[in-house]
Amino acid sequence: TDQQTINEGRASIKVSGNVFYNPVQEFNRDLSISVLNVFAREHCKSDKLEAGVKHEGGIRILEALSATGLRSIRYAKEICGVSEIVANDISRNAVAAIRDNVRDNQVEELVVASENDAIMLMYEHHSKEQQFDVVDLDPYGCPSRFLDSAVQAVCDGGLLLVTATDMAVLAGNSPETCYSKYGAISLRTKCCYEMALRILLQCIESHANRYGRYIEPVLSLSADFYIRVFVKIYTGAHKCKFSTSKLSMVYQCNGCETFTLSPLGVLKTADNKQVKFKLPTGPPVNSQCEHCQHSHLLGGPIWSAPIHNPDFVQKVVTEAPVHLNTVRRIQGVLNVIFEELLDCPLYFILERLSGILHLTTPPMMEFRSAILNAGYRVSFSHSHKTSIKTDAPPKVIWDILRCW
Ligand code: SAM
Repeated sequence: TDQQTINEGRASIKVSGNVFYNPVQEFNRDLSISVLNVFAREHCKSDKLEAGVKHEGGIRILEALSATGLRSIRYAKEICGVSEIVANDISRNAVAAIRDNVRDNQVEELVVASENDAIMLMYEHHSKEQQFDVVDLDPYGCPSRFLDSAVQAVCDGGLLLVTATDMAVLAGNSPETCYSKYGAISLRTKCCYEMALRILLQCIESHANRYGRYIEPVLSLSADFYIRVFVKIYTGAHKCKFSTSKLSMVYQCNGCETFTLSPLGVLKTADNKQVKFKLPTGPPVNSQCEHCQHSHLLGGPIWSAPIHNPDFVQKVVTEAPVHLNTVRRIQGVLNVIFEELLDCPLYFILERLSGILHLTTPPMMEFRSAILNAGYRVSFSHSHKTSIKTDAPPKVIWDILRCW
């Protein structure tokens, strides 16, 4: 019928109108291939890995929501060190397309088509013997319904990849819906993309905690119309006690939009040292903003610990396969991410700060120098061109602007 042939990466697939395919997600797929190549190499500890062939002891991947099978076929042909990929979809038409595309791309040895409800399939793979090294969730909109089963289907030290495209909900247009879906209240804020990432991360962590597990985000990014997180999942009930110190409520002033983070808990370790990424701020003593005396809105809880692992990010930058169409974009975004201040959640937007004070916007480089000269650190966030991440207290930022 109305079939179209799509070439992306090393795959060539046939797409018809009744199965989902989105060309804009090529960057998402390219990035995932780059990340999984690094993960597979860590996992296999061998340099003699090839793509397109079955490696005994290689990684086992579940693509739970596969549609055309494009992603799984690309994983088979472009990731070195794979033992098996299960390409699953609930739709009969989708699974028929997956079978045809797997055959046409000659990856039958690596990719197995599966027609199941992803949730049931992941629950059935919760035992140690059956868990996957990698589970990839790429749903329409909100991924939260899949998280409870997904966090159980990943092996200890394995990787969970999650896309969310319901940005309106995550970015504060509907805080109530955000709470019911993600267990956190979103805020309408200029740093909504990073807030969205941190809401999704806290949601994954809370699901993992129910099973004595916890997450380590290795890479979190916002791009185009979606967010994507890559988190390692570990087992360790005693480490779950640290979760409260990795989560914070966010107070945002209704007047000057200054935000303050308030950790849900600060846990001392056995040697009585505080956890590494303790946040410097406490809750506002009263609900009035100290800078402009307006009231606050309360959002969260959000993940306030690091959202990337810089060593991992650097490996992805240096090892990103050169054949990818979006390799330049991957390297560009990851270089910014590598420089992000990990212990400074959220960010200001320069023109918004000056707008609030009715001043003309100072040049970015000069403003950043002023922060550095005052003795504080500053970086960009990859999610916004004019973002300012800093450990300077808000008072310092307002003072610098007023004296401009
Ligand atoms: N990962 C694909 C890619 O990169 O091209 C796109 C996946 S598409 C956004 C979402 C797919 O999830 C659809 O094909 C839909 O049929 C499938 N789906 C929705 N609910 C499901 C469920 N409960 N179990 C399995 N598949 C499901």
